[in-house]
Amino acid sequence: MNTLPNLSHAVDAARDDLIAFLQKMVQASSLPNHEHDVQNLIAQKLRSMGLEVEIVPSHFDDLRNHPAFGDDGFSPTERINVVGRWRGTGAGDGHSLILNGHVDVVPVGDLTLWDDSPWGAVIRDGKMFGRGSCDMKAGLCAGIFAVDVLQRLGYTPARDVLIESVIGEESGGIGTLTTIVKGYTADAVILLEPTRLELCPVQSGALTFRLTVTGRSIHAAMKPYGVSAIEKFALLLNAINQLSDERHRNFKHELYEDPNNIAPINIGTIRGGEWHSTVPEEVVAEGRMGVLPGESNEAVRNAFEAAIQLTAESDPWLSQHPPRVEWFEGQFESGQTPLDHPFLQKLGAVHQQVTGSAPVFRAVTYGSDMRLFTNHAKIPSTHYGPGDVGMAHAVNEFVPLDEVLTATKVVATMITEWCGK
Ligand SMILES: [Zn+2]
Repeated sequence: MNTLPNLSHAVDAARDDLIAFLQKMVQASSLPNHEHDVQNLIAQKLRSMGLEVEIVPSHFDDLRNHPAFGDDGFSPTERINVVGRWRGTGAGDGHSLILNGHVDVVPVGDLTLWDDSPWGAVIRDGKMFGRGSCDMKAGLCAGIFAVDVLQRLGYTPARDVLIESVIGEESGGIGTLTTIVKGYTADAVILLEPTRLELCPVQSGALTFRLTVTGRSIHAAMKPYGVSAIEKFALLLNAINQLSDERHRNFKHELYEDPNNIAPINIGTIRGGEWHSTVPEEVVAEGRMGVLPGESNEAVRNAFEAAIQLTAESDPWLSQHPPRVEWFEGQFESGQTPLDHPFLQKLGAVHQQVTGSAPVFRAVTYGSDMRLFTNHAKIPSTHYGPGDVGMAHAVNEFVPLDEVLTATKVVATMITEWCGK
């Protein structure tokens, strides 16, 4: 590989600048619908680096007809994405690259459980603490400084590098979807999500559902003459768990850590009954059904509905009073890029060169914006970034700063290897 020899030193020399900027990013709290401040901070930084910066608002009316659109219920008027383009020379060979990161963060939960303010960006023991530090401002910051350091070394890529700072990932992905609908594209994407520097180019999807079961209420003293919706729901719950077991038995994928936890089905809420001495009339349960890689959302919905129907048909009451299944809110597809894709092979080789350790490829069970790139923009993509997803959304969220520096070195080297010169 023809790496710039002093790249690693240049990243180390930029350490203080990088950490100071990451602190500002974390301190600019950016709960959903309040991403403005951090986006302005990033736009200003990208402009100061001489990138061509565009502010790209997410308007629901531009997105509504897209099959991957989901209304996340937040204000459609004030939400902006930032795209910075580092224009390539166009000379020689090379491929363009998108570095994508979301700035929205999830709520902090019980403040009293935090050791420091979630917006303090406190540094202790080589870690930066704060909501969004790990998921995923550190990754985005690593992408920005990869470009910054290459510029300081006088390097210019042959093909474009785009930094996309997007909103709305945690609530369904309208930020990244906006960039796709507006035509921003490249030959490959790194989503700088926390992966502990593992390459994660495969992800499961998840579909939110609501299951309504009706019974017939009566005084509990007369129970045999009524129908308990809770007991009927128990039959269906059993069928749902069997379906999940069966789907995992029949699916094999080497990149998942736990073969029994690839696309779990979870009942998250259940409401039923009105009074302890009344046979319950209705149960409404809401849950999340996993989508296997390579499986369409429609196939998953059909499998779920068929399992419910089969169980209902075997029960005298349910066959006459079929349960209702609705699909609502998040409908996240699975996504994947084949492991032998040259982009992934190249990133793996760069990782090995920079870190001295063989790259680890893994599949993840959570949704993210990656599916939008692989399925709708048809761009080979992977998650790759600093921090542990186990820290994402957690109290005392943190990111190890050395890992952020390493990610910066890998991404910078990848730009020189992938985008040409
Ligand atoms: Zn994330």
